[in-house]
Amino acid sequence: MKRIGVIGLGYVGLTTSVGLAQLGHKVIGYDLDASKVESLLAAKPTIHEEGLENALSKLLESHDLRFTNHIEELQSFEPEFVFICVGTPQDASGAADLTIINSAAQEVALILPAGAIMIVKSTVPVGTCQKITKSFNRSDIFVASNPEFLREGTAIKDFMEPDRIVVGSNSSEVSKKVMSLYDSIDSPKLETNLESAELIKYAANAYLAMRLSFTNDIANLAEATKANVDQVLLGMGLDKRIGNSFLKPGPGWGGSCFPKDTSALVSMAKGYDSALPLVESAISSNEAAFKRSVDVIESLAEGQLMNKTIAIWGVAFKANTDDTRDSPALRIIDLLLKRGAKIRAFDPIARVPEAAGLSMASSAIEATKGADVLAILTEWPEFSMVSPEQVVAGMKNSVVYDARRILPESWRPHFSVFKALGEASK
Ligand code: NAD
Repeated sequence: MKRIGVIGLGYVGLTTSVGLAQLGHKVIGYDLDASKVESLLAAKPTIHEEGLENALSKLLESHDLRFTNHIEELQSFEPEFVFICVGTPQDASGAADLTIINSAAQEVALILPAGAIMIVKSTVPVGTCQKITKSFNRSDIFVASNPEFLREGTAIKDFMEPDRIVVGSNSSEVSKKVMSLYDSIDSPKLETNLESAELIKYAANAYLAMRLSFTNDIANLAEATKANVDQVLLGMGLDKRIGNSFLKPGPGWGGSCFPKDTSALVSMAKGYDSALPLVESAISSNEAAFKRSVDVIESLAEGQLMNKTIAIWGVAFKANTDDTRDSPALRIIDLLLKRGAKIRAFDPIARVPEAAGLSMASSAIEATKGADVLAILTEWPEFSMVSPEQVVAGMKNSVVYDARRILPESWRPHFSVFKALGEASK
């Protein structure tokens, strides 16, 4: 059992706090945001994740986990390890903005006891951990990298049962100490130098984003050639060298990581006079995918969107999360609004502020009332459980665009136009 501090209680920090406490450590989570801390102390999760509320209650009750917005409380806890989990957003040039992480690291370095290890879990460009080490004048504390690979929607499970754990450090003694925090997890464990650990995270995210863009481009070609996209992707994925995960076409990729991380990687490579044309192509292919969905919806709305009502199911960037950061649905809604459409959106969990032309409905059926087209933009499984009869009864035109390919075949006969992404309109 170790004493561990976690800095930043967003998606990664909260999951890390809960995960480490579940592994048997004593954990204190620290965030500047007092309202977030207050909510967590009351065992109310600030993100939507399966099993989180239950885990929080148990760990708070057993005193294995607590939260604070007072740095003095973290100091008197004398943590042996602190995980830095603050945001690393995109700056105006497309690079990673390190302002938040630099200031968090500085603040924490002032209060750490001698011998403590600062572990950077945030996604940071190569060289950041070295710069952080040099930025504070303390030779008695150490910096390691331990990138996080959790997927929103299955965050706790991914933390407890990861595909791999990567720890980067320039001292094997430090690496071993950090890796020992995960002794009770049975997964491949990789110790690397700092630079490799930092690059592994970006390389993995960029590869996944490229794979999705490739899948979307093939879906587009399947539509044009009247090939069956599901059969094409199945036929590809059965090749063991390819595998079938992340071969699902959709309206474009988004979320809090892929857009900013692909952009930061391209920017980082430029700084080393290195080119990443495949990643750059994936980014532009993704922009084209958003526009393609908007063009499809426009064509389904009889060729023009001005004053047409479009029902949107799903605003979260993917199912099982309430995160809307860089959500493909929001990118598409924005483009639809620019072409004059009126949007009535519904999401089982995620909320976005209403704006001119955009209203949030309280149910899936309510969103479709009077709509010219229904577009499914997030793959929530419950959407395929709604009654198509009820949907069609309230719509102005019985036209549906399934950009996530989740609707069952039984829906098809109910609609005058039923279009799934990757297949020609019938
Ligand atoms: P987030 O923006 O949801 O959370 C960051 C938290 O840090 C916020 O609660 C904020 O109040 C807090 N904070 C900011 N400055 C602070 C300071 N000085 N002291 C204490 N708290 C401070 O971010 P996130 O989505 O959890 O991502 C964090 C990092 O992890 C990013 O680098 C991200 O790229 C990476 N990552 C995210 C995911 C994901 O799915 N969200 C997955 C893997 C890696």
